[in-house]
Amino acid sequence: MSFYILKSSNKVFHNENCHHIKFKEKSNLLEIQSLEEGVNKGYFLCKNCSEIYKFYKKERKAIDEFIKVKNMEIEYENNQMKVKTIYSEWKILINDNKLVLYHKNTMGYQKSDEKIKGFHNQKVRGKSIKEYLQYIVNHDEYRKKHPVELKGKEKPKKGTRRYKSWIRSNKEFRKRESKRQVLFLLDQISKGNSLQSFM
Ligand SMILES: [Zn+2]
Repeated sequence: MSFYILKSSNKVFHNENCHHIKFKEKSNLLEIQSLEEGVNKGYFLCKNCSEIYKFYKKERKAIDEFIKVKNMEIEYENNQMKVKTIYSEWKILINDNKLVLYHKNTMGYQKSDEKIKGFHNQKVRGKSIKEYLQYIVNHDEYRKKHPVELKGKEKPKKGTRRYKSWIRSNKEFRKRESKRQVLFLLDQISKGNSLQSFM
């Protein structure tokens, strides 16, 4: 599929079927070979052309209500929906016409997915965006009770030097996490959102 950018507009590109460009003269359009090329050039895919946005539109009301109650943030970027909560960051995208969930790596040993840098494929399957949002809420609840330990897989023996450095990196990891949480809360406050669900 080809993509186009309207010369008079800036930063937004469309797929060949989008009504924004379909009836425009070729001389007003700049062709882009692939989605990747557009993204790499710093353009943003039009919402109307975004697959994930089509899914969102189908369940818009339920999603908007849900994220408000649960203090989640969602954002679109090209063919991805970014989801942020006080505890975690995610991306929902579409692969073979199915919704796929990616989770941001927090622990050192987590392997990155080649497609989404810094994220790993969360091996769960949901039929709707809302189902994934519910999954994220459950995941956060679990995390609250069982905090992640950095390099938790290879906890060294007590009293050794490696143990001390392990404790230290864990402390730094926690500090980074709390800082991120504070920033998230401040962001919520600045948007006038209620913080009740955090109490
Ligand atoms: Zn478009």
